[in-house]
Amino acid sequence: MRIVKSVAGMKALARQWKKEGKRIGFVPTMGYLHEGHLSLVRESKTRADVTVVSVFVNPTQFEPKEDFKKYPRDLEKDSAYLEKGGVDCLFYPDADDVYPPGYRTYVEVHGLQDRLCGKSRPGHFRGVATVVFKLFNIIRPDLAFFGAKDAQQVLIIERMAVDLDLDVEIVTCPLVREPDGLALSSRNAYLSPEERRAAPVLSRSLRWAERAVAAGERDAAKVVAGIRSAIEAEPLARVDYVEAVDPVNLHPVAEIRGDVLIALAVFVGSTRLIDNVRIAV
Ligand code: AMP
Repeated sequence: MRIVKSVAGMKALARQWKKEGKRIGFVPTMGYLHEGHLSLVRESKTRADVTVVSVFVNPTQFEPKEDFKKYPRDLEKDSAYLEKGGVDCLFYPDADDVYPPGYRTYVEVHGLQDRLCGKSRPGHFRGVATVVFKLFNIIRPDLAFFGAKDAQQVLIIERMAVDLDLDVEIVTCPLVREPDGLALSSRNAYLSPEERRAAPVLSRSLRWAERAVAAGERDAAKVVAGIRSAIEAEPLARVDYVEAVDPVNLHPVAEIRGDVLIALAVFVGSTRLIDNVRIAV
């Protein structure tokens, strides 16, 4: 596995691969890798000739009071994990190589970036869209792989790729969970043993919603209220938001009909976790 640190070095390698006619698969991450990330790598390896994984804790997608500084990092472990996973290149640039002094350009996906997580994290998706756009320009992937865990993120990246005429196919991969239902996340490392025991309340509440809809419930407000009360029954959990939305424009729906995205963010202790489910009726 090649380990590339500089933007210029990554561009040169991508150029060389392109000249050789290789199809490049790309998996952007913030590191502290787990099986969820590895599932994206495996998908890339089946669909592309070479796979690049970036590990970059992107400062522009964190709010000033968020966990940028303490976000978990372990490059040595990540690199061993990726090597074992058969990745061709690990790209881990420095923040001042990605955003040199004087940096001023940002990508915004209006109408999508301000909903769901964007309400509690106002600059978050502007940071995400900007860094992904930049990484696409540096790596020139034919395919880029994203997890359904971050449903709003995938939607925003897909929109950006269409709107800005990017020659990249965005592939969404299924959400990977722990055996007790908790969605894998690097932030799970923040949870105390007690909080870890409480955290499956997110997925449990979503499973309850699926059952309620399967049993005939179509009133979105009732489904959302049921999810809320399941979460509020857990003393260590505090709801940030629960919404049932149209998965194309993220507008809230009144009725559970057609394709609906139920998304939530919940603080367990001081750790903010997200989860979601797509329901089709
Ligand atoms: P992150 O390192 O958290 O920024 O995530 C990098 C990529 O991995 C994103 O596309 C995430 O959606 C994806 N990802 C993270 N956790 C999971 C998971 N539990 N299942 C599937 N994909 C995931």
